[in-house]
Amino acid sequence: MKRLAVVDVNLCVGCQGCLFACARRFGDAGLSRSAIHVKSAGGIERGFIVTVCRACLDPPCAKVCPTDALKPRPGGGVILNPQKCIGCGNCKEACTINAVFWDEDTNKPAICTHCGYCVDFCPYGVLKLEEREGGISV
Ligand code: SF4
Ligand code: SF4
Repeated sequence: MKRLAVVDVNLCVGCQGCLFACARRFGDAGLSRSAIHVKSAGGIERGFIVTVCRACLDPPCAKVCPTDALKPRPGGGVILNPQKCIGCGNCKEACTINAVFWDEDTNKPAICTHCGYCVDFCPYGVLKLEEREGGISV
């Protein structure tokens, strides 16, 4: 299974093309459903911070879900069953790299599916889908 990865964060110009692409998976025009986030590192000279789910093999977000709405995905990461989600926010708190973002419209997490849709919308080659190397746990 493949996972989303940041090739070189220094190439990012903060255009947010990846965010809009991700949110559009659901037909939305806004950004609230994006499962990838880009923010300034503090000044133009210092560039941007791109946060993507790292597809943990033993995902802490799934462990704290009280309703089993998050199931480990084969190859890493999680799959969300929105019908089961009660919006408690445990998963957001549990993610060690703060890669569980929150969809305020649905009051549920925005979970990366590692589909790679965003990759083609980055004009600068910041993102890629990569094969997981053996033994990586985060
Ligand atoms: S917000 Fe939803 S998916 Fe996340 S831990 Fe709570 S019930 Fe599970
Ligand atoms: S599309 Fe590429 S350059 Fe634009 S914000 Fe996303 S990662 Fe950065």
